[in-house]
Amino acid sequence: MAKKSQCDKCTGLCCRYFALPIDTPEDRGDYDDIRWYLCHKDITIFVEDGDWYINIKNKCKHLSEKDYRCRIYDKRSRICRGYRHADCDFVEGEYDFELHFTDDKQMEEYIKIKFDNNITEKPKAKKKKIAIKTLSHKDTKVQRKYEIVKK
Ligand code: SF4
Ligand code: SF4
Repeated sequence: MAKKSQCDKCTGLCCRYFALPIDTPEDRGDYDDIRWYLCHKDITIFVEDGDWYINIKNKCKHLSEKDYRCRIYDKRSRICRGYRHADCDFVEGEYDFELHFTDDKQMEEYIKIKFDNNITEKPKAKKKKIAIKTLSHKDTKVQRKYEIVKK
């Protein structure tokens, strides 16, 4: 388990985004819907262990930019209380996503490759350092990510 001092060296990465599971796209229309998500600022899509997620890069309003601490620590939500820093991005380093889309053009190209050229081979995933904080009360694997205690 990471030491609390890890958080002291960090600018609160885990409080600057959240990710939600989304339905696995099946047809061209589904992929096009995801392309629309990616038209929006600060949205990325990633696939991990076959599951698709939308990542919203949006800082929690309670994170202090002066000392990077939680301003409502005693009243923070269940999600924050259950977050253990042992597996957090700052401690664990890079994630190796199966797929990672950072803008709509990437998805446009992917759709062309997948549906127009009838190519089934998956594009190589890029290693990308990005914090993952996901929310699902149904998926135990996702729940595990929430077992990280913030500070
Ligand atoms: S739990 Fe990890 S990401 Fe969050 S503040 Fe601590 S070191 Fe940074
Ligand atoms: S409530 Fe506090 S611990 Fe939770 S995300 Fe916001 S700043 Fe971080």
